[in-house]
Amino acid sequence: MIVAIDGPAGAGKSTVAQRVARELGFQLIDTGAMFRAVAWKALDLGVDVGDGEGLGEVARSLEFGFAFEAGRNVARCNGEVLGDEIRTQRVSEVASRVSAHPSVRQALLEAQRRMGEASSSVLEGRDIGTVVFPDAEVKVFLTASSTQRAERRAAQLIERGEQADVGRIRDEIEARDARDEEREHAPLKQAADAVAIDTTSMGVDDVVSAIVGRARQV
Ligand code: C5P
Repeated sequence: MIVAIDGPAGAGKSTVAQRVARELGFQLIDTGAMFRAVAWKALDLGVDVGDGEGLGEVARSLEFGFAFEAGRNVARCNGEVLGDEIRTQRVSEVASRVSAHPSVRQALLEAQRRMGEASSSVLEGRDIGTVVFPDAEVKVFLTASSTQRAERRAAQLIERGEQADVGRIRDEIEARDARDEEREHAPLKQAADAVAIDTTSMGVDDVVSAIVGRARQV
């Protein structure tokens, strides 16, 4: 079974997807972490964000794996654990530029399908219900106001000991969403058959039980 959870940055996808996957006993494929890993690797290697061919090569050179360890979803790339180094503002911005290249999307799409076909999975991202698994049994599109999303991101950054200016974060989130929505290939979009859930004033428990309930009805 595939549970697709899509939506813009900071809508609560990661928190919700972790809990849904744990409750259902499914694998959790964090597709944003995959785009972030490509961005991080490209920055490390000095590959330009405009170099589609070079970025495609980087994406194809990465082998991903996801597994729950002590209740947390751990992402691995070429055998190494991906940590907070892929969660910085810089990597977020570069990831959203890197993700516009069809060469990168194609490489990651193949990896996402391979992993999702191997066992029942929750996938969180932007194009899971529209492109990666259009036949997913459960499709959810999470949204929240941009102020609420910026406040959540700021809280995450502060928890990690980073500086956070909510106004700046909101501007960055809005710019990133605009790029994700306007790109030509697999843009951020609600699938016609996805259920939209606005998490602005909803608690995590309610969002999780709404999704788990749908999955159990399938
Ligand atoms: O979800 P997260 O914020 O970690 O994603 C980082 C970036 O990766 C997004 O802004 C988007 O540009 C890209 N992405 C994507 N398609 C996905 C998941 C993420 O283009 N399925």
